[in-house]
Amino acid sequence: MAKRIYLDNSASTPVEREVFFAMRPYFLKKYGNASSVHSFGREVQDAIDNARLEVAKFLNASLEEILFTSSATEASNMALVGTIRKFIKNGKKPHIIVSAIEHESILETASYFHKIGQIELSYAPVNKDGILILDEFKRLLRKDTALVSVMHANNEVGTIQPIDEVSKIIKSFNQENKTDVLFHTDSAQSANFLDCNVKRLGVDMMTLSGHKIYGPKGVGVLFLKEGVKIEPFLLGSKQEKGLRSGTENAPAIVGMGKAVSLVKQKLPLNKKIKELRDFLLESLLNSIDNAYVNGSLKRRVEHNLNISFLGVKNSDLIKLLDLNGVAVSAGAACYSKSLKQSHVLRAMGLSEDRIDSAIRISLGRTTTKSDIKRAVKIIKESVTKLRR
Ligand code: PLP
Repeated sequence: MAKRIYLDNSASTPVEREVFFAMRPYFLKKYGNASSVHSFGREVQDAIDNARLEVAKFLNASLEEILFTSSATEASNMALVGTIRKFIKNGKKPHIIVSAIEHESILETASYFHKIGQIELSYAPVNKDGILILDEFKRLLRKDTALVSVMHANNEVGTIQPIDEVSKIIKSFNQENKTDVLFHTDSAQSANFLDCNVKRLGVDMMTLSGHKIYGPKGVGVLFLKEGVKIEPFLLGSKQEKGLRSGTENAPAIVGMGKAVSLVKQKLPLNKKIKELRDFLLESLLNSIDNAYVNGSLKRRVEHNLNISFLGVKNSDLIKLLDLNGVAVSAGAACYSKSLKQSHVLRAMGLSEDRIDSAIRISLGRTTTKSDIKRAVKIIKESVTKLRR
């Protein structure tokens, strides 16, 4: 059987060998509970402290500002729920703004609290290129706004959002109105490609995911700026500054620390990834008619291509590509199973046929030119077959 080609790195990345080997002792030998006072516990606590230091360095944050969670989903839930609960506790109903193209971990959480009547909710729109419209966002800010959540890079179309400008707008709003609007960004899809310096970006909270940066699944990070108060998310034995109780997943945390430390080292690879992505795009546009790229090509993370082949249903194309050994997805990984229409492409105002025929191709550190050449051939044959 021919080698399978993995072009779904936005859904998940393979674990780097160095990450795996850093994690292994924490399954087999160093299995203590970090909260224990004996040496078995202390060696695990030391490893967690080291991982925290790596993440803090990566974000230009301090150790106290880094909280480990079980996923990016949990980190974002913690940011939203922790903020909302603080207001509810004081008998207030906060206003929350989220961009219309956020990941489900933000959208579903916000919509749940809105449905049960505990928050007021506004969606900040994006333009046809998939970029937040700053003027419209600005108009949504209110004196009772508690939190704004705008992702750093979108998971479906890879568009880079103007985080530093959003942060400036919020800061000047806060100064003018003596308010304390908080700003959270989800950097799960940007950490491999963009500068995640929290001070430069001016964010109060930031989410990261292990398995999007060649680390393990089941671990995430919430950066919580010093002085920002949120309510606990998981109650119990008060790990992670009492905000996220539960015995720390030491192997995964060690893996996260290693993965983060490798990101900088691997940055030069992004140039190769971009060249391959551009070659893929050019080859597809040259060989298949009625093909359209979705989202800005200029403001986009290097590995992403979201493309519609008009007249072809994306779910059919993905299945046929898979039968021929090429793994891609329809927008986010979750749509590929549920076959739900992409809320991101809808928010960008694309036509139904463009949305229904869109696939996401995401390259990674292990993608080669021969992978891309073969993928182009298989995509072309599959689109032609389905159009017939
Ligand atoms: N946020 C974004 C932008 C994502 O793309 C994803 C994963 O698809 C998540 C959050 C969720 O990450 P995790 O699987 O770590 O919960």
